[in-house]
Amino acid sequence: MNPEIEFIKCIICGVDDTITVLPGIVKCKKCGLIYKNPRESEKKEVQYFSKIDSAEHIEQVWNDSKIKLFQEGLKLINNLLPEKRKLLDIGCGHGLFPKMAKEFGFKEVVGIEVSQIAAEFARENLGLTVYDKPIREINFPDEYFDCITFWNVIDVLSYPDKDLEETWRIIRPGGVIFFRVHNIVYQLPLKKKEKIFRMFGFSPALLHNYGFSADTFKRLLEKCNFTDISISNSKPTAGDPYKTSKYLGEWFVRLVKSSLYVLSEIIQVISLDKLFISSALTVYAKKPSKIKKILEIITRLDMGGSSEVVLSICKNSDKQKYESILVCGYGEKAENLDKYYSTRIIPELVRNISPLEDLNAFFKIYGIIKKEQPDIIHTHSSKAGFLGRWAGWLYNITQNKNVKIIHTPHGHVFYGYFGRFKSSIYVALERMTAKITDRLVAITEGERDESLNYGIGKIGQWDIIHGGVKSLPEKLSDVREKLKISKDDLIIGTVARLEPVKGVKYFAEAIRVIDMKYPSLACKFLIVGDGSERKKIEAIINKSGLKDKVLLTGMRDDVPDLISSMDIYVQPSLNEGMGITIVFAQFLGKPIIGTKVQGIPSLIKDRERGLLVPPKNPQKLAEAIVELVKNKELREKIAGNSKKWATESINGYRRFSEERMIHLLTELYDTIFTKKSSR
Ligand SMILES: [Zn+2]
Repeated sequence: MNPEIEFIKCIICGVDDTITVLPGIVKCKKCGLIYKNPRESEKKEVQYFSKIDSAEHIEQVWNDSKIKLFQEGLKLINNLLPEKRKLLDIGCGHGLFPKMAKEFGFKEVVGIEVSQIAAEFARENLGLTVYDKPIREINFPDEYFDCITFWNVIDVLSYPDKDLEETWRIIRPGGVIFFRVHNIVYQLPLKKKEKIFRMFGFSPALLHNYGFSADTFKRLLEKCNFTDISISNSKPTAGDPYKTSKYLGEWFVRLVKSSLYVLSEIIQVISLDKLFISSALTVYAKKPSKIKKILEIITRLDMGGSSEVVLSICKNSDKQKYESILVCGYGEKAENLDKYYSTRIIPELVRNISPLEDLNAFFKIYGIIKKEQPDIIHTHSSKAGFLGRWAGWLYNITQNKNVKIIHTPHGHVFYGYFGRFKSSIYVALERMTAKITDRLVAITEGERDESLNYGIGKIGQWDIIHGGVKSLPEKLSDVREKLKISKDDLIIGTVARLEPVKGVKYFAEAIRVIDMKYPSLACKFLIVGDGSERKKIEAIINKSGLKDKVLLTGMRDDVPDLISSMDIYVQPSLNEGMGITIVFAQFLGKPIIGTKVQGIPSLIKDRERGLLVPPKNPQKLAEAIVELVKNKELREKIAGNSKKWATESINGYRRFSEERMIHLLTELYDTIFTKKSSR
């Protein structure tokens, strides 16, 4: 076989299954790629190009055709890469584009041009760094360039697939490749009629080694792992610098080109971005950034567990791997965030249902998603979870993206919060929304199991990641004296917002029951917190003449000290996702009585790590309290067990620590792209 000729397979499909469309030009039956086969060997072509030159009227060629195109290209690149550092222009010719890129602000610009005369010209006259050998022979360092450009070059190359592989290696993650490439959809029909055009002195069509269409070029880039591929009709060059028409002149060519460009734009719109017919295409793509962008969306940044968790994720996640953007409504904590957090505040994002504001918030979230193009959307709490997940869904289907959607409800609200009707609406919405969610995160096993019972998600969709709890201060002070409680009395207490869902009212009722049945039991009761039910609770206490036995402290900032002074901790909630105060009480080795709701049984194993009682049942709660007061042995046993359990280390992380939470979340973020969704 002639060593100067080579036969090649389709560079996209890797097979040799073609039909001939023109003498020496074939079309791959599988993908539609058009290419010269057989053709001159790469070596021969490089030799050929290294000798040719067209420098005679170079100034005119520059002025006529490329400057405007290059300016537009640079603007586009600037939008994609605000920081202008290192650029490589492949096939830079006489160096016009590198020269312009330098003037535009790129700090380091390098060109490649196998035509030695052109390369020499660029070096001597423009002072540019230009290599005169193929890219694969240069050996640039890994991930060196921020941007690599190919102006009407890629279809001339012998092995664009191999050159793109090399491009991939030398471009940094997040870097941009930019192409202007001849469009075979335009070129081929004209090429087929070339004989007729020639008779009139035209040579309007170009077909080098490859003829790419928008579709085949996109496939090639995808094969080389580039992402965010964008294709558009390229504006025509201004004049007729290459004298494609000998007789009719420049103005005629310009008119035809402009009309064709307008037509191609119309066709692109009508065909919904499927058909591109202009003579050339403008294409850019990215090497995916290693840093994944995550939108953390929460309804309000108020005091409380879910806000703490979200702030902790934004602050502590690995910055080498993730960039977190916090999206939230107003809230006490949203106002004083340090510069550390990248925050987008949506004032319309409110907790209550409010159709107008909700719709507004929905589109604002959608806008942020569209602008930021995150890899993952992680929503927290129910309103943000609902709006954020549907906005993500809409973005995925309209923009043809695959942003992963994770939701952490931070405890469900299916009972204990609202009336039956409102609760059933919540359940229905959550069921529906779970279907568009990749992963659901429960803060306890109990939350997961109850959510599954309500038909929310499938078992394989759920992960359990406890909310991270900060460690307690090392030194705690005994507040017994300050509160004037004698050493002989056991202190039985709770810490809670005095809202219906916390069930503190039932604790007060239980105290009344105890006082009636066991008036001489040596104990005092402590209720720490404030809220809308305070008056109600006070009324129960006053009415039963318990003022001496019960201390209502209101809101306090020495909660750990208070819990540490208690002998028995009570959590009478009607619903509780996890209960950070329970975890605190466990850290402190307190015997705990909790209600059998949602997440509490996950923390308190009945009679091993505490006692469980039914919610809204003062009688049973009173019995449990009395049992613990009377049975010191049981008290000590469950206290020891629960301290050991809460503080033990799992794979090197303490069970409820922030570090473990971040570790498990990182694992989830890392694997979500490889794990098959089981929704
Ligand atoms: Zn093919």
